[in-house]
Amino acid sequence: MTQMQPTVVIGGGLAGLTAARALRRAGVGVRVLEAAGEVGGRVRSRVLDGFTLDRGFQVLFTAYPAVGRELDLARLDLVTLPPGAVIMSPGGRERVGDPVRDPKSLPTTLRARTFSLKDKLLVGKLAAELSGVPAAHLLLGDDEPTGDFLRRFGFSERAIGRFFAPFFGGIFLKRDLSTSARLFRYYFRMLLSGRTTLPRGGMGRVTQGLAEGLDVTLGARVEALSAREDGVTVRLADGTLEASRVIVATDPPEVARLTGVSAPSALTGVGSTYLYFAATRPLDDERRLLLNAEPGVINNAIWVSNVNPLLAPEGQHLLVVTVLGVPEDDAALETAVRAELGAWYGMAAAALRLLAVERIPFAQFAQPPGFAAHLLPHRTPLPNVVIASEATSMSSIQGAMESGEQAAACLLGRGGRARGA
Ligand SMILES: Cc1cc2nc3c(=O)[nH]c(=O)nc-3n(C[C@H](O)[C@H](O)[C@H](O)COP(=O)(O)OP(=O)(O)OC[C@H]3O[C@@H](n4cnc5c(N)ncnc54)[C@H](O)[C@@H]3O)c2cc1C
Repeated sequence: MTQMQPTVVIGGGLAGLTAARALRRAGVGVRVLEAAGEVGGRVRSRVLDGFTLDRGFQVLFTAYPAVGRELDLARLDLVTLPPGAVIMSPGGRERVGDPVRDPKSLPTTLRARTFSLKDKLLVGKLAAELSGVPAAHLLLGDDEPTGDFLRRFGFSERAIGRFFAPFFGGIFLKRDLSTSARLFRYYFRMLLSGRTTLPRGGMGRVTQGLAEGLDVTLGARVEALSAREDGVTVRLADGTLEASRVIVATDPPEVARLTGVSAPSALTGVGSTYLYFAATRPLDDERRLLLNAEPGVINNAIWVSNVNPLLAPEGQHLLVVTVLGVPEDDAALETAVRAELGAWYGMAAAALRLLAVERIPFAQFAQPPGFAAHLLPHRTPLPNVVIASEATSMSSIQGAMESGEQAAACLLGRGGRARGA
């Protein structure tokens, strides 16, 4: 009987879609149940007033191993962000690039006073040290907060505060550099060895592409699971569904609710907020990420339409501002953000039109040193139920996709990690 029932994947984010595709490749009948009205989870885009707004600002590193294995990059029609960033402060701006990959950035990078000569040499030394190590090895070994690692490596407080804190704050969604140095080294390596990209149609194209050809039911929120040795009953608001096996690929708190396997409190959620501004003329022709050198409300911002004009309607431009945390009051937030944009752009900032504010209370989970010891297992105590979630790996596109691959392998009897393994 159970042979005829499909394998059900709960959650149509990166982890669930990757797992479903891997099962389908292996000839397994699979059905995806997604609570929302569209697939994608944390990787989605929507259209508002003709602007394509990604759900928060995130990028696709082509060097992620799972991205290379699972995505058709040619079909995604990627645009590449120039390496480096612009360090913004009321007193002016400094552009730092990667002179090896972008020789035109050499003069401004050499002039940048955020980095002392020693800092500049240390960047080269770090790059040389990391480029020789296989990426997966960077996630092993000694761990400490990223800030401690940078100080021990010899970087100046100025470089750490004005560059590393906002740049990696934008990646880890925490500016205090308390995130695991293993992850810092891993991301540094991803930045060095691949391209930092955005699909021309928005980040949502990544998950839409993965969902193509899959049997996906939208608006299907799973309320509970009842697992037995011969199958699993999946309870939805409007009835039940029998599955031979289930992969739970939701966000970590929902994984805990459905399977009883909870993430230790060490893996708490980290939230972030995004303000999308429209402009009839760009206040900046910069394509790089803009970093707020001062600890303020804005952590980073980007004129995404300078990188990818298709995200804005003809004659319009799009600025996305990242604020770390989830401040509640829209009006107070807008006022504070406008004040800081005013310090960058003067009176011209007043012409920016706020299109939307997006709060994402659980954007990633916190990854302090030693976080790997708290990751979830793929296998659960429930028969025929396994977990695919970034919480089995790391809070990233790579982590989510890899966990989908491994959960599928686990169901196919080819691996998967048990708790503590
Ligand atoms: C703003 C932001 C910036 C980020 N920046 C980066 C970055 O630059 N680089 C990077 O690598 N990573 C980044 N990340 C992290 C990355 O996007 C996530 O790690 C990844 O998308 C998680 O995928 P997932 O499939 O594990 O979870 P999700 O995307 O959360 O998918 C879970 C899915 O399960 C569904 N679901 C939940 N409960 C149920 C239920 N009961 N029944 C049915 N369906 C359910 C949800 O609706 C959702 O679609 C960022 C994330 C955010 C939000």
